[in-house]
Amino acid sequence: MCKVGGGRGWFQEELGWEVGRGDKAKFWEDVWIGSVDLKSLFPRLYSLSLNQGKSEGEMGVWVDTEWRWDLRWRRGRFVWESSLERDLNTLLSGVILRKNVQDIQVWGKEVPGRFSVSSAYECLSKHGRGNHDEVFKLLWKVKVFPNVLVTAWRVFMGRLPTRVSLSRRGMMLNSTVCPLCLLHEETCQHLFMECKYAQQVWSQCLPWVGILFVQHHDLKLHFQSFHLFQVSNKQNKIWKGVWVNVIRSIWDQRNLITFQQGVVNAEEVFQRAQLSLGCG
Ligand SMILES: [Zn+2]
Repeated sequence: MCKVGGGRGWFQEELGWEVGRGDKAKFWEDVWIGSVDLKSLFPRLYSLSLNQGKSEGEMGVWVDTEWRWDLRWRRGRFVWESSLERDLNTLLSGVILRKNVQDIQVWGKEVPGRFSVSSAYECLSKHGRGNHDEVFKLLWKVKVFPNVLVTAWRVFMGRLPTRVSLSRRGMMLNSTVCPLCLLHEETCQHLFMECKYAQQVWSQCLPWVGILFVQHHDLKLHFQSFHLFQVSNKQNKIWKGVWVNVIRSIWDQRNLITFQQGVVNAEEVFQRAQLSLGCG
């Protein structure tokens, strides 16, 4: 069972719940909406939740036949966390608990009646931007760990907490400068595309994939450029997986530097992305 990249093994990944009254499946930790546990989808909210380890049925009340969620938090949310909470509520609004039905454990992602992972994210993408473009369709097909996929999804949705994005949402920061190069403001565009360290990572990655160069600096177009006409669809999906893993790897490195005073090493970032790919 492959454990590289911090994810769970594939067998566990396929285990999920068809939720009835919410008596067995754990709200945050188990897979019961789509194929991603909510803990991976909303790590920040999970860390603030007072309901860790609880089942769905312990996190709300029945008012006659209608289920009402009542999620408990350690403290009030910051502005940027509230937008995460809205995302979570949007997902939950599509869930119908059934009072007289027990939860059943199921194996396999495409269980009738369950959200598929793509429908869960699609729901959020539509809600957030009002459009649903080709990029998201391509993204849902990529086979990588859910937490890696979520990072790319947040990048495309403009919801990754970069320094600039946090400061726009009202958070007081000492600096909005990119922690990798210390030269420019840290936006997603800069961090993943324009930063000299990101450029070093891509310059190792492109020849490895067999792409001569990518002329776009736009993140979505850059992702779509990971496509070669002479190879199969399956192979192109793998290349898109490489892209997603590189993004996650840069983000991990950025977090390491921000929170643990790590150092930048473009080669290591790319090698980590390659390692994670083995498990996609
Ligand atoms: Zn930079």
